[in-house]
Amino acid sequence: MTITSTEPTEAVKRLSSAHRVLITCHLNPDGDALGSELALVELAGELGVETVLVNRDPTPANLALLPGADRILVGDKLPENFPEAFDLVITVECPGLERSGFEGLTQVPIMNIDHHPANPAYGVVNYLDDNAPAVGEMVWRMFAEAGVWPSADAATNLYVALTTDTGDFRYSNATGRALRAGAEMVDAGAEPTQVAEWVHGNRSAAAVRLLGEALGTLRLSCDGRMAMVTVDQEAFRRAQAGPEDTEEIVNIPRSIEGVEAVAFFKQWQPGEVRVSLRSRGTVDVRAVAVAFGGGGHKYAAGCTLTESLEDAETQIAATLTEAIEVTT
Ligand code: 5GP
Ligand code: MN
Repeated sequence: MTITSTEPTEAVKRLSSAHRVLITCHLNPDGDALGSELALVELAGELGVETVLVNRDPTPANLALLPGADRILVGDKLPENFPEAFDLVITVECPGLERSGFEGLTQVPIMNIDHHPANPAYGVVNYLDDNAPAVGEMVWRMFAEAGVWPSADAATNLYVALTTDTGDFRYSNATGRALRAGAEMVDAGAEPTQVAEWVHGNRSAAAVRLLGEALGTLRLSCDGRMAMVTVDQEAFRRAQAGPEDTEEIVNIPRSIEGVEAVAFFKQWQPGEVRVSLRSRGTVDVRAVAVAFGGGGHKYAAGCTLTESLEDAETQIAATLTEAIEVTT
């Protein structure tokens, strides 16, 4: 029997009865995924449950400072003793199993923890709440449910999760619930100044050079309601930057007066274009991403096109323009 709930009760019960858990998250892990994973490791430990943390993609440099991040295993292989040594897999923020980047996870019962809309509840336990500001807030509720007092490290990890997903409490998911959870995390030892310093004060010079490259490509259309920026292979090379240096770029065009939706194109290798989409108004960029096989949230979504850069830009521009014109 599978269980699906917006409440942490069943998730905590199932975690408590496990012996060894494999924890993983989505490709290109972000603050919410990583902070939530690391706090889950602590919660499991307090419940006497062993954990192994494996992510397909590396931890971004600024988030490698999170307490416990050094124990994350990275790569495309599951541990050698998988599946036999494990009795539970927890997927964090994976709105589909394929978002983990691993195959074969279903050999072990899965607990699916996510706040994306339209997660298909593929686990035996599905702790899914699309009203949660971050998965970190859902994990915070698991601590309370389990009666485990979070350490300052767990509070810090979950504060990172919450603040990165709410844009430092600026996005539409910065609800009272988000702020209350944040306050509790600070009371439990999270330090906002230190977290902001980690998250925003650790940019590489390459990332700043790449930002310059990207801003030089800024195009506005739809009467200034749509902005597009691009970094192609040449730009990556000139900036001596890599895909991990693209994190904050999309937020700058998003801040332009009158802009309602942004598309940011990244071409790291030929024939593959990664697209980040952002909205600050009524435009549902998730629907645009889904049309190209991606997903995400209404205000932040992404997809990957296996096309030339020009074709990807043309197709996304057309679909995004249509989305802007029907909604505004
Ligand atoms: P970003 O632009 O920061 O990479 O992603 C923004 C949001 O869209 C995140 O919530 C992320 O989970 C989601 N997202 C990005 N790319 C994909 C994708 O290819 N598939 C799905 N399902 N979601 C994506
Ligand atoms: Mn999230």
